[in-house]
Amino acid sequence: MTYDLQPAGSHYIDGAYVDDTAGAEIPVIFAATGARIATLHAATPAIVEQALAAAEKAQADWAKLSPRERGRVLTRAAQIMRERNYDLSVLETYDTGKPLQETLVADATSGADALEYFGGLAASLTGEHIPLGEDWVYTIREPLGVCVGIGAWNYPTQIACWKAAPALACGNAMVFKPSETTPLCALKVAEILTEAGAPAGLFNVVQGMGEVGASLVTDPRVAKVSLTGSVPTGRKVYAAAADGMKHVTMELGGKSPMLVFDDADIDNAVGGAILGNFYSSGQICSNGTRVFVQKGIKEAFLARLSERLKGAVIGDPLDEATSFGPMVSEQQMTIVQGFIEKGVAEGARLVTGGKRLDRDGWYLEPTVFADVTDDMTIAREEIFGPVMSVLDFDTEEEAITRANATEYGLAAGVFTADLSRGHRVIGKLKAGSCFINSYNDAPVEAPFGGVKMSGVGRENSKAAIEHWSQMKSVYVRMGDVEAPF
Ligand code: NAD
Repeated sequence: MTYDLQPAGSHYIDGAYVDDTAGAEIPVIFAATGARIATLHAATPAIVEQALAAAEKAQADWAKLSPRERGRVLTRAAQIMRERNYDLSVLETYDTGKPLQETLVADATSGADALEYFGGLAASLTGEHIPLGEDWVYTIREPLGVCVGIGAWNYPTQIACWKAAPALACGNAMVFKPSETTPLCALKVAEILTEAGAPAGLFNVVQGMGEVGASLVTDPRVAKVSLTGSVPTGRKVYAAAADGMKHVTMELGGKSPMLVFDDADIDNAVGGAILGNFYSSGQICSNGTRVFVQKGIKEAFLARLSERLKGAVIGDPLDEATSFGPMVSEQQMTIVQGFIEKGVAEGARLVTGGKRLDRDGWYLEPTVFADVTDDMTIAREEIFGPVMSVLDFDTEEEAITRANATEYGLAAGVFTADLSRGHRVIGKLKAGSCFINSYNDAPVEAPFGGVKMSGVGRENSKAAIEHWSQMKSVYVRMGDVEAPF
């Protein structure tokens, strides 16, 4: 089957594709070959204006629907996404370079989970009655209004759905700006929402670099900004949103610890470390990139890890047998190569990998460093690529202190056979998304998000509702008003 990857327009506004070729060109490159597969244009101010005006208009009517009717649109969209999972997964693979083996089970499916979950939840979103003797207060859960979503490039379908689903369920409209590196998938989410019955203008997609995102964030019509991106971008977006006193959700980067105690099942711990460092070629915000292994099992852990890494099938991401694909872009590959060079220069032991593959596309080998110390660059900075740092430790207390010695706090994991230790240690790790004898699961039913510099707010679960709605309280006096004069 051949795919025409060029969309009918760069942007999706008011229920239709639109374009303005005056905007800067955005080439879409297939990471596995380096070939250009589509060309889009960044939004001009006129396009941004169209999108915000359409969202503002649609939001007013959408908020008047009963929540159950809103939910029905979302659950229908979830069903369409599941029916088209194969084609959406192929598109995700072209957009990101991630292997089809992954995209078939992790992208449109996870987007559909969010649409289904929040579609189901919509009808149960209510206020409360607060008795005050004769008088009483009731609260009304209201939408925020026009919301902006800004995405990173690693999970373009999932990020669009994780933001759109709770936002729309609560009665908001959205203008979504995908990453300029992966602009294709969010357009399909918009098409599917329209097909499922979402009114024109409810979910709009505008393309562009940071400036387009910045122009959305500062627009006075926008009530909320949800960003998935890096900490430096988060700082800028949060500050700009603060100026207009807007609500924010910040899903930012991490340098998460995974603690492997000497009583852990080694194969499970190695499996967790592989998932938490090499899935999506390591381009996952919550990855456990600092793997602290207790000294007694360090060499056994490294030996088993090296053995299992030989099983990675590196190749064409469109081949379902491939389990490890290219980096998203040449730029990201170059950044990661720089970190690998620093790891070597600063004295870490390169156990395996470290090289670019001699083939087209942006392929780096799965890379493991051992004997990494806390002060090395590869142990401190987010790499966002297939590079695992293995550090060793003696005691539980030491591991906890060192694991927490970072400005980030997105995720953390513990592998141990001693469950009371598992809970005790997780209780002391400063992170938002934690795992015991597992790593990187992100079911829509559970809150997802970080502490410290890794972010503000939570996506998924009932917790997300608080970030996409606000309460109005209404005091009702049953008797006379007693005024002093
Ligand atoms: P990035 O910060 O470079 O860009 C993110 C988005 O912000 C892009 O759409 C970009 O165009 C936009 N942007 C840039 N400057 C802007 C500005 N001034 N105003 C408004 N928008 C602006 O991040 P990236 O390289 O696309 O993605 C990788 C980063 O994302 C990593 O740090 C990773 O950890 C993080 N991430 C976090 C999560 C999470 O849920 N916590 C998930 C995925 C990725």
